[in-house]
Amino acid sequence: MMTYESLSDGGFLTGSMLGSGGFIAYDEDQCIVRNTWNFTRFYHHESCGQCSPCREGTGWMEQVLHKIENGHGTTDDIDLLWDIQRKIEGNTICPLGDAAAWP
Ligand code: SF4
Repeated sequence: MMTYESLSDGGFLTGSMLGSGGFIAYDEDQCIVRNTWNFTRFYHHESCGQCSPCREGTGWMEQVLHKIENGHGTTDDIDLLWDIQRKIEGNTICPLGDAAAWP
């Protein structure tokens, strides 16, 4: 059974965590790109702009995901998203940056 504690203890064998404890379940008809773009729009909007990785990175990820969502993405965009999120993760003052990077 997956619980908040089982994840935070690393008991899920991943050393993972459950963040705020919220779940979103998608069925197979949902578009992961569109939903990830929507998450990124939220984080870009909520970024206070104090840290440059969050301020710039969330907007950049939003643009790249929008490009992919509209059919103009390339495989290089996947590498670019990976590179951007790695530069945000662990390099911001508050957890919003990490939360933006992880999806
Ligand atoms: S990580 Fe937090 S403090 Fe830094 S810019 Fe984003 S919202 Fe502001």
